[in-house]
Amino acid sequence: MDKKEYENTLTLTEQLIEIFDETQTKDVSKWFEPEEEDKDFASGIAVGTELHNGKCVFLDKQGLCSIQRLSMEKGEPKWKNKPLYCVLFPLTIYENTLTIDNEHIDRLKTCNKEGAQMSIYESCTEEIIHLFGPDGFAELQAYKKEFESEN
Ligand code: SF4
Repeated sequence: MDKKEYENTLTLTEQLIEIFDETQTKDVSKWFEPEEEDKDFASGIAVGTELHNGKCVFLDKQGLCSIQRLSMEKGEPKWKNKPLYCVLFPLTIYENTLTIDNEHIDRLKTCNKEGAQMSIYESCTEEIIHLFGPDGFAELQAYKKEFESEN
């Protein structure tokens, strides 16, 4: 996640701990990897989440992201505090371009629907709108139509 999202997540520490289950660690010092430079993140600094019990520290035993769950339980927009990287997956931003995270898809088989008959563009419409906003998405749709009519 971006450093700013990391800082925001830390402000939610107490609330997250309250909804964590027994498979998740409440020791905040075990939640994050060291910061590293990454130009594809808005602040230029990325912070990874650590694994605990073989899964992301924020993933509960039901396979739900606690950061998203917390927002939903509070009646907030579901992605209010969720890192953009996580919202977008299996899409990702690489070298300033929205693309498909092939490397992670290979490692995270459980995040992929087997035999899906739709494109990632179709199945991730909500995520693309989240990234570009409704106006940006409309512009993208127009480009897509133009491209399809020419090809
Ligand atoms: S979406 Fe998954 S990887 Fe991202 S913080 Fe939540 S549990 Fe971790």
